[in-house]
Amino acid sequence: MRYTGRVFRPPSEAYSLIVQATIGCSHNKCAFCNMYKEKQFRIRPLEEVLEDFDIARASYQQIGRVFLADGDALILPQEHLLKILEKIRTEIPECERVGIYSSPRSIKSKTSEQLAELHQAGLGIAYLGLESGNEEILALMNKGETAAEIVEAGRKVKDAGLALSVTVINGLGGAEHWEQHAVDTARALSAMKPDYIGLLTLRVYSGTPLQEWVQKGELTLMDPPSLARETRLLLEHIDSEGSVFRSNHASNYLPLAGTLNADRASMIAQLDKALAGKRRFRSAVELGF
Ligand code: SF4
Repeated sequence: MRYTGRVFRPPSEAYSLIVQATIGCSHNKCAFCNMYKEKQFRIRPLEEVLEDFDIARASYQQIGRVFLADGDALILPQEHLLKILEKIRTEIPECERVGIYSSPRSIKSKTSEQLAELHQAGLGIAYLGLESGNEEILALMNKGETAAEIVEAGRKVKDAGLALSVTVINGLGGAEHWEQHAVDTARALSAMKPDYIGLLTLRVYSGTPLQEWVQKGELTLMDPPSLARETRLLLEHIDSEGSVFRSNHASNYLPLAGTLNADRASMIAQLDKALAGKRRFRSAVELGF
């Protein structure tokens, strides 16, 4: 396959065919993120994208899932996306699910009818970064969208029939704001009720504003027990019936998995076990920090 620069995908797309429909991120300004820093955002020519599916078809007999990268590929014009989905339907009829990164901006750029049309054409799941439900933290992190806008966008995706997967960053408020981060994030998730909630852990990447704040002592990174306490508070406040909750990302000190609200108590019990020293946190070395 042909890729430009580093390619990222959600953990649940580990076995998907990844095709870059866009290059880079249309925002590219979050203070904690360096994923697409080396790339200038652009839309990849449609012919090139369609050719990638021909290349994949010639190489792989079975393609169960397709993930359209890079960041925020939902920003593509509607006709462009429909042509890609048509190509997947005809070239890869066995494909069971097509996923895509989205943002409030790209979701806003589509009408509800257009989102439903994309779903009808085969788009199955949209991934949306909430990161935090706290407005001050989002503003500090230069997310470019408010929590209210992200919640509205998430609801629009679900109303169109698409599955919604939302990511949250454990520790994003630092030791200074962990309680507000947990409680407001639980509130935003409860308002969206995503099909999937993915909890990542804050990592500090070189060259980001976050790294500078940490070095200056303006944001204090949290240790594994503090992060577990924050997750506990989040779970205590969340009401998101049916959401699959996972903290099984490579960045997490304590993998958790369950379906809300039924498994909330058992996940809290696992956190309590770890906080009491009866369950081991993964080490920073294991996580590659
Ligand atoms: S976190 Fe997402 S929206 Fe923000 S810069 Fe990184 S890829 Fe873009």
